[in-house]
Amino acid sequence: ADPVLDIKGLRTIFRVRGIEITAVHDIDLTVTAGETLALVGESGSGKSVTSLSVMRLLTRNIGKIAAGSIRLKSKNGAVRNLVSLDDETMRRIRGDDIGMVFQEPMSSLNPVFTIGDQISEPIRIHCGADRKTAMDAAVQLLHSVGIPDAKRRAGQYPHELSGGMRQRATIAMALACDPTLLIADEPTTALDVTIQAQILDLLLKLQRERGMAMLFITHNLGVVAEIAHRVAVMYTGRIVEEGPVGEVFGNPRHPYTMGLLASMPRLGDAARMKQDGEKLAAIPGVVPSLTNMPAGCAFSPRCKFAIDACRAAVPALEEVGPQHRSRCIRWQEI
Ligand code: ATP
Ligand code: MG
Repeated sequence: ADPVLDIKGLRTIFRVRGIEITAVHDIDLTVTAGETLALVGESGSGKSVTSLSVMRLLTRNIGKIAAGSIRLKSKNGAVRNLVSLDDETMRRIRGDDIGMVFQEPMSSLNPVFTIGDQISEPIRIHCGADRKTAMDAAVQLLHSVGIPDAKRRAGQYPHELSGGMRQRATIAMALACDPTLLIADEPTTALDVTIQAQILDLLLKLQRERGMAMLFITHNLGVVAEIAHRVAVMYTGRIVEEGPVGEVFGNPRHPYTMGLLASMPRLGDAARMKQDGEKLAAIPGVVPSLTNMPAGCAFSPRCKFAIDACRAAVPALEEVGPQHRSRCIRWQEI
């Protein structure tokens, strides 16, 4: 199938106090309809910058797309390169073809408007519905994201809802115009554990029902296993491994992915570790600063497999299995 989102050679830079840093580079990613691609990696690896580049929401005058193309298929089937669109067209695409859900629901909700007003607004503006039709659709959406008593809730303000309910409301808002692509950046991180599971289930269900393409950003590998078809692992702004979730988690071909998997707590770990005094294997060393990158493979200073050749040049993303790629020259030996 044609991809809904097709990113090629994306490079995004930031200019801070006269110094230019490359936050993400060489990003190639595709997501097809009905598919969820998870973007994982430690804090600062470039997950949010990648999604902000797609949404064209980089901080003006600071962040800039320096290279590459981002092609998006709209509802009408038209494919456009978002990198070259003007701000006005881009504003229309956000909320129409791209739905967005962020970590903090209050960053998407306006405290002075009712939930119903905020969900019906994009339906009026983007989809051209009249006030009554839009409000009815908003109530229907609130119902479909599992908000009980949706009609009454539509008349309430954000502060009258719990955190979980607010995130459900922002999901309803993101879906209002039936987007082809849903971008969710750590959508459950700010919520209680029990609520997290409910929101994940909801996103999974909605994505299946609507056949959307979903770009899901998280640092939680457990969540990836539950929700995603494919996963891309990022380190210092580059994708280091990518492939079907079962393939990447079952047969990791990059030492960084292996480290992430080894430091992931499993069910029963807490009890067992208490007994044995055992600790989770953390990846030794620290993430290098983007202004002072090591030569060659950025992970080499922390990698127990590193050899001189690793420090000579940045490895290419190589095919290592079915739809499975790794940016490690020693992928066959590790
Ligand atoms: P987290 O898991 O903490 O959300 P992330 O993977 O989403 O991390 P990004 O927010 O994409 O990380 O940031 C990647 C890098 O881009 C940062 O380390 C920082 O150097 C740079 N960066 C991001 N936003 C800005 C900004 N507004 N100004 C300057 N540099 C920025
Ligand atoms: Mg982020």
